Amino acid sequence: MGRVYLVGAGPGAPDLLTLRAAEILKRADMVFHDALVHPQTLALAGRARKVLVGKRSGRHSTAQSFINKRLVDAARKHGVVVRLKGGDPMLFGRAQEEIDALRKAGIDFDIVPGVTAATAASAELGVSLTRRGLARHVAFVTPRAAQGERDNDWAASVLAADTAVIYMGAGLAEAISAELIGRGKPKATPLVLVESATLPERRILRGTLADLPALALQAGSGPAVLLLGEVLRAARAESVLAEKIEAILKRA
Ligand code: SAH
Repeated sequence: MGRVYLVGAGPGAPDLLTLRAAEILKRADMVFHDALVHPQTLALAGRARKVLVGKRSGRHSTAQSFINKRLVDAARKHGVVVRLKGGDPMLFGRAQEEIDALRKAGIDFDIVPGVTAATAASAELGVSLTRRGLARHVAFVTPRAAQGERDNDWAASVLAADTAVIYMGAGLAEAISAELIGRGKPKATPLVLVESATLPERRILRGTLADLPALALQAGSGPAVLLLGEVLRAARAESVLAEKIEAILKRA
């Protein structure tokens, strides 16, 4: 019997991978990976057979129950089986369904965390998601529900949080903006869309909650998170001020 590793590949850049993940990939016999995993990360698994099972919303994807079954079957045939997921496997990655299937089949597994998109975007912006006196409550949410999934009130979490990071939301920009504004979130709440964080094609679009539909139209087709909250305003004001001071010092 083999062992299955649910491994976080990080947000994009191949060097944002843990040493533990790299070591497991090197030993892997089989890797089931998402569409967003970088080719250099996959290349670490030199001896493994690689199978794309990933999903990008709106495109062809492998049914979750089928992935679960393939993981179980592979573990019965191979030594080291890796399920490689973008970001952190335990956030918006349907990891629990895979874990439950492995447990049920009596297969040993381990989880290797990864850098999630929210913290990658925060790093790229140079904006802390928490901040003394301003933000002590951060919500990671997605408005996207799977077919047949019970709808839950994602907007309530965004309204309650000081800082919100919305995953899988760029394609729902119109609805997100309308819902939050309709329920009392100020239109002028600072909002940043970060697309393809940590990759060369990265894009950062800044605006307010009211601007969200327009910002989303400017974005490309890469994965994007929306960051929302006062921390983004404070950081913006500070960077503008820092630039001004730098310009004055240069002239002096
Ligand atoms: N487990 C992943 C999230 C999977 S859901 C994680 O922890 O990051 C897929 C969503 O993640 C995308 O729709 C997008 O919202 C976000 N995402 C993934 N990679 C990203 C990146 N490089 N830049 C911005 N957002 C990203």
